[in-house]
Amino acid sequence: MNLTRLSGRRRVLALAGASALVAGGLVTLPGTAAQAAVQCDVAYTTSDWPGGFTANITIKNLGDPVNGWTLGWTFPNSSQRVQQGWSATYTQSGSQVTARDAGYNGNLATGASTSIGFNGAWSGSNPKPTSFTLNGVTCNGGGGPTDPPTDPPTDPPTDPPTDPPPGPGRVNNPYLGAQGYVNPEWKAKAESVAGGNRVSNNPTAVWIDRIAAINGTPDSSSNGAMGVRDHLDEALDQGADYVQFVIYNLPGRDCSALASNGELKPDELPRYKSEYIDPIAAIQGDAKYRDLRIINIVEIDSLPNLVTNTSGQPGGTAMCDTVKANGAYVNGVGYALAKLGAIPNVYNYVDAAHHGWIGWDSNFNPTADILKTAATASGSTVNNVHGFIVNTANYSALREPYVKITDSVQGTTVRQSDWIDWNQYVDELTFAQAFRTRLASIGFDPNIGMLIDTSRNGWGGAARPTGPGPMTNVNDYVNGGRVDRRFHTGNWCNQSGAGLGERPTAAPEPGIDAYVWVKPPGESDGSSELIDNDEGKGFDRMCDPTYTGNERNGNNMSGALPNAPISGAWFAAQFQQLMQNAYPPLS
Ligand code: BGC
Repeated sequence: MNLTRLSGRRRVLALAGASALVAGGLVTLPGTAAQAAVQCDVAYTTSDWPGGFTANITIKNLGDPVNGWTLGWTFPNSSQRVQQGWSATYTQSGSQVTARDAGYNGNLATGASTSIGFNGAWSGSNPKPTSFTLNGVTCNGGGGPTDPPTDPPTDPPTDPPTDPPPGPGRVNNPYLGAQGYVNPEWKAKAESVAGGNRVSNNPTAVWIDRIAAINGTPDSSSNGAMGVRDHLDEALDQGADYVQFVIYNLPGRDCSALASNGELKPDELPRYKSEYIDPIAAIQGDAKYRDLRIINIVEIDSLPNLVTNTSGQPGGTAMCDTVKANGAYVNGVGYALAKLGAIPNVYNYVDAAHHGWIGWDSNFNPTADILKTAATASGSTVNNVHGFIVNTANYSALREPYVKITDSVQGTTVRQSDWIDWNQYVDELTFAQAFRTRLASIGFDPNIGMLIDTSRNGWGGAARPTGPGPMTNVNDYVNGGRVDRRFHTGNWCNQSGAGLGERPTAAPEPGIDAYVWVKPPGESDGSSELIDNDEGKGFDRMCDPTYTGNERNGNNMSGALPNAPISGAWFAAQFQQLMQNAYPPLS
């Protein structure tokens, strides 16, 4: 699927909260507005750490009742940026910021207050804004006290931000300040391997990979006895705030590979709707679960295949032709988005492949376009899409610290190296951010957030380069410095040498809602030889370590680990290696 690279661990922009240290002072701006009707009071507090901060803002309406509001201010320092906000929709242009109400908190009676907040970035200094406007009217405009900062904590505060108030309306980032659901079935598998308890409390996604999985599949290799309802009940018991499901059962699934062929034939869209999506929607829509943020990862490895893997293209397949021609993927995804998106506490993130798949100019815009086509098919609108996910179940590095796409060696761009091969990206973070911009430009909500599956893109361990490669030529330079140690970015099955990547983290970078573990680490991508099974799982030679490849992986070795079970089944040896090569390393 994609290639990855990773770089040094960056400071995580985390989640500071109400109980966090308040490094700056409180700015209270009581005001009588110029226009008599609007009067307001704004309290702006921050918790700062080097480079980052969390701001909590309380808006008090002292004037006539307000029906919908926009708060505005100007940051005093040009480096100050809003990165991830909650309880309002933020836009920033230069130093000017506006925060628009989130719907549920738009009505403010006289005397009523509402609290919003955001995580931000700064460099140099982080002074507070001195003036705020509410619906264009200045809340007094007085400068706040410029308290000398107390010593900023050296690390980001760890307390989660105040939860947005419950109630209708989605939050901007469902991961922010939220506790994730730990799947007990995966946790038990992880703890069956020595040292697995170091990571087994991380949230991983629950894959609904066949119709039977909705009610639980005690007999399947990949899933356990727990069905969708059991997981949601367990999430309530855990006191979790969010729970992640993978919607993965399109007609003619996995059209360009064999390891995860699904149960539905390409012409079984009606069954997909009535026997798969509708029952899931009925459960997720149960009022009992209304306070959970239900996150759906929608149909991985589907729509991009229609761009790159139809016939006439290297390695194109007849199955991809069929599902393109009959609309099974586009209409299936549209239906899933419309049906699940109608549930107010559901957050849909659509799969957007990875940089080693659609990072080339020829694939980038066409993939964005087909995502839009699907998001507006079957009665859906772009509003049913909360964001997108990249690198699902893949191995592409988050960052490539020693290779930048702009580097060149003796006048030759690294894009000309065999590894990069004219791609525009070398890693998932830059790709995800750029793709988000593209998606917003063609009509998706500008506030869409990206997720990056970091479950297996760690590439640590002894083979990890510690600096750039030699400047002898572009290939030596790229191969010596890249942390993604695969033979080719097209290799996707049980990659030897991979490690666990960043642990699940909310709002780590601008535009990124979270690093997530969607592919549960330790579950196989496919068997390394043909294994008979009644779960519809085929044998794909990309999972065979002796396979010498095809045009889609540049005729390289597959790089797969030996002795792997069928896709989804527990692969203890792989899990051991993932822990060993974790990056950031496990202690
Ligand atoms: C398999 C699914 C499995 C998932 C998570 C996919 O490759 O086809 O059956 O649930 O991986 O491990």
